[in-house]
Amino acid sequence: MGLMMQQPLLISSLLRHAERHHGEQLVVSRRVEGDIHRYTYRDMASRSRRMAKALGSLGMEPGVRVGTLAWNGYRHLELYYAVSGSGAVLHTLNPRLHPDQLVWIAENAQDKVLCFDLNFLPLIEAVAPRLPGIDAFVLMTDRAHMPAQTSIPNLLCYEDLMAAQDDVFEWPEFDECMASSLCYTSGTTGNPKGVLYSHRSTLLHTYASALPDALNLSARDTILPVVPMFHVNAWGLPYSACMVGAKLVLPGPALDGASLYALMEAEGVTLSAGVPTVWQGLLAHTQGKGLRFSSMNRTIIGGSACPPAMMEAFEDQYGVQVLHVWGMTELSPLGTVGVLKTEQLASTRDQQRAVRSKQGRALFGIDMKIIDAQGAELPWDGEASGDLLVRGPWVLSSYVNDEGDSPLVKSEGQDWFPTGDVATIDPAGFMNITDRSKDVIKSGGEWIGSIDLENIAMAHPDVAMAACIAARHPKWDERPLLVVVRKPGAELSREQLLGFYEGKIAKWWTPDDVVFIDALPMGATGKILKHQLRERFGDFLMQPAERPTVG
Ligand code: AMP
Repeated sequence: MGLMMQQPLLISSLLRHAERHHGEQLVVSRRVEGDIHRYTYRDMASRSRRMAKALGSLGMEPGVRVGTLAWNGYRHLELYYAVSGSGAVLHTLNPRLHPDQLVWIAENAQDKVLCFDLNFLPLIEAVAPRLPGIDAFVLMTDRAHMPAQTSIPNLLCYEDLMAAQDDVFEWPEFDECMASSLCYTSGTTGNPKGVLYSHRSTLLHTYASALPDALNLSARDTILPVVPMFHVNAWGLPYSACMVGAKLVLPGPALDGASLYALMEAEGVTLSAGVPTVWQGLLAHTQGKGLRFSSMNRTIIGGSACPPAMMEAFEDQYGVQVLHVWGMTELSPLGTVGVLKTEQLASTRDQQRAVRSKQGRALFGIDMKIIDAQGAELPWDGEASGDLLVRGPWVLSSYVNDEGDSPLVKSEGQDWFPTGDVATIDPAGFMNITDRSKDVIKSGGEWIGSIDLENIAMAHPDVAMAACIAARHPKWDERPLLVVVRKPGAELSREQLLGFYEGKIAKWWTPDDVVFIDALPMGATGKILKHQLRERFGDFLMQPAERPTVG
């Protein structure tokens, strides 16, 4: 045996470190109440201890699940540490889900306490009678903002609970493999499934995500996570910011381009993180007004493919470097980051950008491979595309309450998690997602990747959003159909857009048709709901003579 100290990897240690070594560092939040709130890691640590005591007084014990329904803000951050640090399980619920789904998830998770932001009061009032398992509802606000009347029995006030406690509290020590937090997958198919993280998986993910060739985080950064704390722990940033001592700027519910831009400039944000749809709003705002970013130098884009046109806009117009990341709820979430190696530094800027547009290289801790339909491993030649499998200490082994078969598959004697993504891997180890397996377009037995087709459409100056789906076809089985939202005022025609594909891809990949609509259906985590588009337009190509007119 080695002769080193045995200390469990616990989430509370991140907060202890931030308080002791970065106590003066700031956490700035745009509150749901409308104003800006500022305090230090020292304040946050003190309040987290008080909240741990308060929740303990409400019966929160190790293992108990505490739900949150909240935006990115300091009270939510306090709960991240107060709940997990006490040995209970923080269950972040996604407020963008349908109320029926929220009720289903809270029941499935057996939440006992539910803490929620002020603007969700009407929603919780509506669903509270259907949540008999919840013993305590806590409104995350102060006494002045408590409603005079509510149908929620014994509604508790977060700041009153806080005020009743002092901060003398020792974080308990326990096994690092205990559950720390819970997040349900976005549920684009079937019922959502619960992914239960542990302290150990979270800490290892935090270390790896901060590395220079990952998110490259430091004490000199000011980080604004737009990616919500209710979806895969905001890509781990509430943990990694404490680990490195970075300033945190939390945008609350104001995620429009103007509000984000104002906060970024006011707080000197150097790094932000979010899904492509959010950045579209930000870029539309800055481009429309001719604005510059005075401090932001990097932005992390993931959750769905970053269109190369977006990378170009950030880098060429604004000098903001784009980090393209890929991950999943089941991966805590980070798996790969598109950062160059030495061997690519001599290539042209366009070649480098082509590499950085891929989903990227595996972080240490994640292993990956691609397999064909028979389960045989495919070569890393950048050409062969197959089902992507991953394994590692922050990859899930089984879903919550899942009595069915294991989600893992055996490959060469080892357990792997099948991601449902279809990808190539090049000789340098860069993985490129060509599709979700269920989104792949199978034309005459050959695969057409929808992401490439969407990226080209998105590069057209008149296109605001584009999704490419497999539409049934009498001859080819399936053919690509492009569903497009034009930019306001643009008069782009079907022929102009299809002509834009010429020379950019193999001719037979060109979409068969274009449908213009006003808005694409978006899921609760900012991803386009392609199954809804398939339901609506799946037969669009079947009767060419009688095609419906849309848009
Ligand atoms: P979620 O669990 O909701 O985070 O969804 C995970 C899925 O989002 C992955 O399996 C991918 O299909 C997709 N995804 C995440 N990041 C990317 C990316 N950078 N490019 C393409 N797809 C992505």
